[in-house]
Amino acid sequence: MTATKLSAQLAVHSEPAELRAAIRTLRGTGRPVHLVPTMGALHAGHRELVRRARAGAPDAATVVSIFVNPLQFGPGEDLDRYPRPLDTDLDACAEEGVELVFTPGPETMYPAGASTTVHPGPLGAQLEGLVRPGHFAGVLTAVAKLFNIVAPDRAYFGEKDYQQLTLVRRMGRDLDLPVEVCAVPTAREPDGLALSSRNRYLSPTQRRAAAGLVAALRAGAAAGPRGAAAVLAAAAQTLAAQPELHLDYLELRDPELGVVPATGAARLLVAARLGTTRLIDNVPVALGVGE
Ligand code: AMP
Repeated sequence: MTATKLSAQLAVHSEPAELRAAIRTLRGTGRPVHLVPTMGALHAGHRELVRRARAGAPDAATVVSIFVNPLQFGPGEDLDRYPRPLDTDLDACAEEGVELVFTPGPETMYPAGASTTVHPGPLGAQLEGLVRPGHFAGVLTAVAKLFNIVAPDRAYFGEKDYQQLTLVRRMGRDLDLPVEVCAVPTAREPDGLALSSRNRYLSPTQRRAAAGLVAALRAGAAAGPRGAAAVLAAAAQTLAAQPELHLDYLELRDPELGVVPATGAARLLVAARLGTTRLIDNVPVALGVGE
């Protein structure tokens, strides 16, 4: 028996069969089910996802999953030190009106002998995938399992992890998954830094330098009317002013993360390391319009 009742609305399950039974009961009342997958350490960005999920349909029941997915961490990454403040997370879920929280353990998601994974295709080996081989196979495998366990009508993902959002959407299309994938804009600190569970690793000096990431993206976006080369030059120039930021990539792509067009909608993406902490961010860019 793993279900815990935290408040009148919120129940927590770590066993898929129990979660499924609870969802069956909800569905029996005709309500749609909206899923917000997370790795926990919930912040205002996650809360925004939950608010969108709740607002997405007036009678929706919102399910949050909290699972630090070992399959998406590479050797030497921060799996062991990844924050797991479960009690605070459950309080946040209760405050946001979440009805069900799914907290499976790794042995539940990947029992001994499990070996089938989802292959993300070529985009999975680019950008984040180039720096983190196997990352997106890990992400998509966990997300596919969550979709199958929860069977949500909609699932909410942040634009903060733009490549992840793009690949999850593509998986939904390519594998005919009956889930509507909904995107939520990035929630930011007052100075523009994208909220992330990893920001807590930053020293005060690194925290100041981290704001240079979004400054670079914004400088790039402002150069959009002058074309792709100007966007990349403006962003690179801003990044160069922050020597603590060690750049993994700065790339301009089309909104599906294919080759960037000469004009029209594009996406500018950046990843950089500050000490042992890796940060990613991205913004939309309108190319070659307005001049
Ligand atoms: P994570 O717990 O980091 O796996 O993130 C869970 C979900 O929250 C993902 O869909 C993320 O893209 C989303 N998310 C994380 N940070 C933010 C943010 N600052 N704004 C909006 N969504 C976010």
